[in-house]
Amino acid sequence: MPTGPMQITDSTLKSVSQAVRMTSSDEIACDECFDSMDRFAEANLTGLDAATALPLVARHLAMCPDCGEEFEALLTALTAMVRPRPRFRFWRR
Ligand SMILES: [Zn+2]
Repeated sequence: MPTGPMQITDSTLKSVSQAVRMTSSDEIACDECFDSMDRFAEANLTGLDAATALPLVARHLAMCPDCGEEFEALLTALTAMVRPRPRFRFWRR
């Protein structure tokens, strides 16, 4: 019969504190990066300083090759869509 509600081990504590650090620091995860990626690309395409507007995304893209690749592909696709027809939804003027 179990004596306590839950065994708290060192590794449990470690992963919990890691998770807290991940969410409370300025690091974001790939899925968060992906969620903001279109806004980041939009800022880029409209001439805004995307890295200042979305520093966490910029930082993640710089250190995550997977997202960096994804972003480059997105940017290429958006550029091709936006340039010839500036009525695309990313255009807000
Ligand atoms: Zn990533």
